[in-house]
Amino acid sequence: MKAVRIHGYHQQPVVDDIPEPKISGPLDVIVKIGGAGVCRTDLHIIEGQWEQAMNPALPYVLGHENAGWIQEIGSAVTNVAVGDTVILHPTPTCGLCHACRAGDDMHCENNSFPGLSHDGGMAEYLLTSARCCVKLDPSTQPKDVAALADAGITAYHAVRKALPLLYPGTSAVVIGAGGLGHIGIQCVAALTAADLIVVDRNPDALKLAEQLGAAHTVVADGNHVAAVQELTKGGAHVVFDFVAEQGAENEGWAMTRRAGSYYVIGYGGELHIPTLDVIGTERNVIGNIVGTYNDLAELMVLAQAGKVTLHTRTYPLAQAPEALADLDAGRVRGRAILVP
Ligand SMILES: [Zn+2]
Ligand SMILES: [Zn+2]
Repeated sequence: MKAVRIHGYHQQPVVDDIPEPKISGPLDVIVKIGGAGVCRTDLHIIEGQWEQAMNPALPYVLGHENAGWIQEIGSAVTNVAVGDTVILHPTPTCGLCHACRAGDDMHCENNSFPGLSHDGGMAEYLLTSARCCVKLDPSTQPKDVAALADAGITAYHAVRKALPLLYPGTSAVVIGAGGLGHIGIQCVAALTAADLIVVDRNPDALKLAEQLGAAHTVVADGNHVAAVQELTKGGAHVVFDFVAEQGAENEGWAMTRRAGSYYVIGYGGELHIPTLDVIGTERNVIGNIVGTYNDLAELMVLAQAGKVTLHTRTYPLAQAPEALADLDAGRVRGRAILVP
């Protein structure tokens, strides 16, 4: 089969011909890929940023945002059948450890991460686990939803955790209305009555934010922290930071009101916060990594109801190097999706 493999860091991935994966465990499933999202994390993988954390054996197949159709199932699989349309939680988990029993998939003691730790879904077929499969309406086109498997779930997870804090009368700020942020905006709009303020450098992204449910938009032009302070009368109850680098992280903290919570979703920057400020204002910093299986299942309910939609651009699988180059150069509007 055709597959997009990384052979070395700081090199373009190559479209190779490799053997199809085979079922070995009773809960294994093989999915015929219908769409594989191209993510900024793939660029970071090529740059070598994930080498230490994941230590994958090279070459291996990229792709951690996958959806498709069940091609083959292991002997103990009961939740999906051959032919089912599925979107895949990114991490196969054991189901038996403390985190798994609490539904906290990302902290499973025995999880793996196809596309980061071993062969992923930028290929014709992917080997994963029955535990990853969220069954979809058969009319769903995998290429339309694939990016919800990582970008979408990550945005949803943060908003879902913040729901008890976002009762009527509260305010929420979304920093960054790009790939993840535009999904976060739709989740806040669909799930809460909070007054939603979106901050971005790009006026076009803010126009889209208004269409997706932002009550107010603020251009990040240097006066944006003061503008948010004024709109929220002293800071937002919850700030969702989808940028969290190049200074946005300390601005996001400054936009958070007393006893409020600052949710870190983007990454790359560093927070510098005096501990006196933490105790004096009782503000919280909340980390977020991908999401749970149930987060993905809930997000797909919103997606199938038309309450969360993705802007996508498709490329044939063989054009993966072009898709990665377009993403790197900022030429992709919405999300790039590879279709085998
Ligand atoms: Zn991703
Ligand atoms: Zn586990």
